[in-house]
Amino acid sequence: MPRRTKILATLGPATDKPGVLEGILEAGVNVVRINFSHGFEQEHLGRVKAVRDWARANHTYIGVLMDLQGPKIRIASFKDGMKIELKNGDSFALDADLDELSGDQYSVGIAYKTLPKEVSAGNILLLDDGKVVLEVNSVEGNKINTIVIQGGLLSDKKGINLRGGGLSANALTDKDKKDILVAAKAKADYVALSFPVNGDDVRETKELLIKAGCEAGVISKIERAESLADDIINDIINESAGIMVARGDLGVEIGDPQLPAQQKRLIKLARSNDRIVITATQMLESMITNPIPTRAEVFDVANAVLDGTDAVMLSAETAAGNFPENAVKTMNDVCVEAEKNPIAKVSHHRLNEKFEYIDETIAMSAMYAANHLGAKAISTLTETGKTAMWMSRISSNTPIYAMSDNVKTLRRVTLYRGVYPCGIEKSSTNDWMEVNSAVVEKLVDNNIVEKGDLVVLTKGMYKDKSGGTNMMKILRVGDANY
Ligand code: PGA
Ligand code: MN
Repeated sequence: MPRRTKILATLGPATDKPGVLEGILEAGVNVVRINFSHGFEQEHLGRVKAVRDWARANHTYIGVLMDLQGPKIRIASFKDGMKIELKNGDSFALDADLDELSGDQYSVGIAYKTLPKEVSAGNILLLDDGKVVLEVNSVEGNKINTIVIQGGLLSDKKGINLRGGGLSANALTDKDKKDILVAAKAKADYVALSFPVNGDDVRETKELLIKAGCEAGVISKIERAESLADDIINDIINESAGIMVARGDLGVEIGDPQLPAQQKRLIKLARSNDRIVITATQMLESMITNPIPTRAEVFDVANAVLDGTDAVMLSAETAAGNFPENAVKTMNDVCVEAEKNPIAKVSHHRLNEKFEYIDETIAMSAMYAANHLGAKAISTLTETGKTAMWMSRISSNTPIYAMSDNVKTLRRVTLYRGVYPCGIEKSSTNDWMEVNSAVVEKLVDNNIVEKGDLVVLTKGMYKDKSGGTNMMKILRVGDANY
């Protein structure tokens, strides 16, 4: 049984080393993440090309997700690149008037100049992913006076988060707008939007992508406290191809204890709105330096699978870690085992709902039929991947093969849980039996089904027409007529 949960791995210096990229792809990576927070254009394009070359040579499809940096709010730098140590109870100021390079034991500049206008006494500021915690004492002009609540080391350009969220920085920075052009050049399958405040940020991103001629789907990273409000999150989800539970920044803003419940809520919300969901950050963090994970990390990956995530993500574990291949193999093994749990297979999705579309109805019927009949495979002939998306929202044990001659569609479905891209040649016939035979042959050739197995097939009446799926047929492999 192939793994249903998809593995998203971030590329970086560690995967540039000879043989490592091939190693992680062979170990089961479905989608790679290019992080615009590090590196430069030629580096990004080179990595995308290497991945696509490998996929072509191995007759498979790997998705490419390019992650915009977004408005990471940071402190400026310290004199001579020094590191300071803050102790509990120390006074420390964040001063927008201070020069870029003149931080010291008492104060440091801020790259985000409007911060003093957006905070007030009593606010909690979290630096370096929450490792250092400051409480705002007073704001004098452009200077924020704070008391150190939790001390620690502080060095150049560390990030700042406000507990509870609410900073006004726009999601799309000038750098992001330039990087969207790079994503267009790379023909990215997905672009991840960092720190969207609301659906407007997603709409603006989609407009810029269209202008750049980029067909990538937008994955909105949920990492601001204020984006969790019911109306805002629903708007973001509906405007996006999918979301990422960005547990790093989100955890800092809302506090880690609130994260598990939010992860479950966001996964459910995305799935019930027919959207993709990725669970990200620190999933196997200790494997950056160790060849094996902690038991808590194993549980974290497994629990995300049981929560219903489409994909689990590796960040520094693959991009900059010492054991990228081990990390992917670990994820693969944990996902496969977690998926054997009966609760990963039952679906109550839409049992009490009305369907809106014909193709949606076909997709739901196919899943119901396959789940209850014990079909060996589901095959959906699809132009845009939409039918496969609907199908993959239903928990199931039966693999869904998205068959298309459209490479973009084949690469896009790499993120859908339980869906496998399967390239077919453009058919020159409208003869249904011929098309059906070709589908079964393809599944037999790939050792997915054998004589006697049942296949649930969906397709549209007219080829080349998107959204036209209106037929379901159940075939027994080896029968004289399909
Ligand atoms: P990042 O996003 O790694 O780009 O910050 C993920 C997160 O915040 O969890
Ligand atoms: Mn983040």
